[in-house]
Amino acid sequence: MINCEYLKPVDLQEALKFASQFADRARFAAGCTNILPDIHTGKLRDCVLIDISDLKELTGINREDDFISLGSATTVAELLNSEIIRNEAPVLWEAASRFADPVVRNRATVGGNLAYGSPASDMSVPLLVLDATVLVQSMEKGIREIPLRNFFVGPGKTVLSPSEVILRIKFEPLSDFKFYYTKFGKRNAMAISIASLAVGIKLGKAIEEARIALGALAPIPLRALRTEEFLTGKPVQTEILEKASEILLSEINPISDIRGSKEYRLELTRALFLRAVNNILSLK
Ligand SMILES: Cc1cc2nc3c(=O)[nH]c(=O)nc-3n(C[C@H](O)[C@H](O)[C@H](O)COP(=O)(O)OP(=O)(O)OC[C@H]3O[C@@H](n4cnc5c(N)ncnc54)[C@H](O)[C@@H]3O)c2cc1C
Repeated sequence: MINCEYLKPVDLQEALKFASQFADRARFAAGCTNILPDIHTGKLRDCVLIDISDLKELTGINREDDFISLGSATTVAELLNSEIIRNEAPVLWEAASRFADPVVRNRATVGGNLAYGSPASDMSVPLLVLDATVLVQSMEKGIREIPLRNFFVGPGKTVLSPSEVILRIKFEPLSDFKFYYTKFGKRNAMAISIASLAVGIKLGKAIEEARIALGALAPIPLRALRTEEFLTGKPVQTEILEKASEILLSEINPISDIRGSKEYRLELTRALFLRAVNNILSLK
């Protein structure tokens, strides 16, 4: 039997109060594109849905000094329609353009995508490569800032406690980096990622800094920190990139599933990484 109630708080404070009051049964409801299928399939049977989709604290895409700040209830469609995102965070815009289809994009939020904690979460990869920070709040813990690279702990698991809401996500646009994003699925639209990858490189005479984020290739979306460290200060040479791709494969741990085998995903990652770097080097 399904036992789910629906609450519509008037403001953020009331939402946090409800979350604290209903503890483990509380579920913040944003676009509900994960929640409703979960109720439908019986994965979620007993819950109190707290509708946060139009709380003003959780909306808006703003430029704040050196940072871009996204409300957690920003939809994927809003990212695509934002001049700030298109011009200053094209890696995030590109990922939004590959997300589901226009109907789902109108509902699906960035906060919901991160909080659901899927290893194949498509918003996490561009936000990881931008080294985003997640601002969260609860009655019990107050406000805290969590680097996104410390946010995911396992499939469907994050460091959030049940009563903690994601308020905003912020990142520096890193205008001196060049970025490339790729999502590889069974088809171009409405496909769960078999692998996704974002690479950012700050190039001087050598590679000054590298950022690599991966999705669907480990139990959590992750940054390839050892590969990044290896590449820093290195010249762009074929043998360096080959060595980097070896290190990269040692940092991931893909599974075999109906979308592809572990071996396939490993080879795919090598190819996508080399394609990403070549693509970045060809950018003016
Ligand atoms: C047909 C279809 C296609 C899809 N395609 C893709 C795809 O291409 N790529 C992809 O990554 N995903 C995809 N998804 C999954 C889903 O759309 C995304 O994960 C979406 O971003 C979830 O956002 P939401 O607002 O709908 O979350 P909801 O369903 O409202 O919530 C999801 C979870 O996050 C929690 N939550 C929501 N907001 C917050 C918050 N601010 N703070 C704390 N917790 C919160 C909820 O309590 C719940 O546990 C698809 C889903 C469907 C049904």
